Amino acid sequence: MKRQPTIGLEIHAELKTQTKMFCDSLNDPEEKHPNANVCPVCAGHPGTLPTINKAAVESVLKVGMALKGDIPQFSKFDRKNYFYPDLPKGYQISQYDLPLIFGGVLNGVRLRRIHLEEDTGRLIHSEDGKSSFVDYNRAGVPLMELVTEPDITTADQAVEFAKELQLILRYLGVSDADMEKGQMRVEANVSVSADNVLGTKVEVKNINSFKAVHDAIEFEIKRQEEVLSSGGKIVQETRGWDDAKHKTVSQRIKEEAHDYRYFPEPDLPPLDLSKFDLAAIKVAVPELPKEKRLRFGKEYALKPEQAEVACRDRAVAEYFEEAASELKSEDARADFQLLYNYLTSDLFGLMAETGAAIGDIKIDPENFADLVILASGGKISSRTAKDILRKMLETGMDPNDIVKRENLGQISDESALEQTVASILEKHSAAVADFKKGKESALQFLIGKAMAELKGKGNPKLLQEMFIRKIS
Ligand code: ADP
Ligand code: MG
Repeated sequence: MKRQPTIGLEIHAELKTQTKMFCDSLNDPEEKHPNANVCPVCAGHPGTLPTINKAAVESVLKVGMALKGDIPQFSKFDRKNYFYPDLPKGYQISQYDLPLIFGGVLNGVRLRRIHLEEDTGRLIHSEDGKSSFVDYNRAGVPLMELVTEPDITTADQAVEFAKELQLILRYLGVSDADMEKGQMRVEANVSVSADNVLGTKVEVKNINSFKAVHDAIEFEIKRQEEVLSSGGKIVQETRGWDDAKHKTVSQRIKEEAHDYRYFPEPDLPPLDLSKFDLAAIKVAVPELPKEKRLRFGKEYALKPEQAEVACRDRAVAEYFEEAASELKSEDARADFQLLYNYLTSDLFGLMAETGAAIGDIKIDPENFADLVILASGGKISSRTAKDILRKMLETGMDPNDIVKRENLGQISDESALEQTVASILEKHSAAVADFKKGKESALQFLIGKAMAELKGKGNPKLLQEMFIRKIS
């Protein structure tokens, strides 16, 4: 018998609009003071009326366009009825049969739909287990839900999908999609088929990191394979991922759609999507990470893994391009590599010391490019370049000004090195003799001595040439 894992994902993302989905309370789920951003509408008081947040609808339309989904002419909201203390109204306004987006594709995985709903509040349980508190700051926050077709076959593929979606949501500016903060939540539907017959699926919730996406799916595939091989049956259920115990645990037997008594939300009008300015939304879709990576590979001769790093953050990619546009030397290809290295190892390293983001730093891309030009033209040594970079980060100064002010320029003028070379040759005649006998390390020794005398500012290549010439 041939067994094959099948995975479909349901991914929620909080949209970063100014206000909540159906009222004008502030949309700030990170607010620490409990119940600070609550009004009668999102608190579910009887007699209040919701209104649709246009920006939230537009955000989902933008995601739908980016993922090549279809926008229907009409869409509507529905009530999903259930009771839980984090749901003040006793129902959630969601979408049932007419979502904002049908279809689409990402990483070769077909999308079923993308719809819009409202988030729930949060329960906080006291440590002694005796009391629970409820915080409605998150209740009513716009929540996008994307549902895939069961096209995924491995845990790694599921992680790649979720990571790429996260990046796209960030590129589009619609969600910060941080999994650790609960801004993006992944639920994985997992089944194991036997001889191409789709198996019963289990839905896994409580997944709070990409690692957990991977581990929960791997665990669930293995568990189901074991149940099936020992002649057992898979029960359709919802299981939770227990990160500490590293396993999924049964939570409840899966409810059916009819358990929720969905019906059209009577307090909201249906949406005529043809009245939205779809052309303007389309224009606002930026170049997506996949295309950007390919273009960076072509235009800047970056290797695929370098392009991946450069495009992992839209602001970083834009910074790279602005700096790259200043590099127009004959050997731009080498300069792009140097730019990439200074950016992703040196600058990122310094930024990590303070936790700064690219948008916070004082170095503008033109000055950063100037540093690359100074280094690639041999005007400063690579050691000096690192020191200058630190000063640029601290002061925002132009590297050319730093070189001038601190007299850091590399000495690449033969006549200026002449005297030093002559005095080193005189002082270290033993090393000169060794080099004549073919001892390569003697040459390095002489260059080192000259460098020390020049306080590290001599051009090492030129010094090497001069020593070889003078000795032979
Ligand atoms: P439900 O009605 O139980 O919510 P849906 O058909 O709406 O189920 O699908 C929910 C998610 O489960 C989708 O992402 C879908 O791709 C996935 N899915 C459906 N059937 C399977 C299956 N047999 N194995 C794995 N995933 C599945
Ligand atoms: Mg479902």
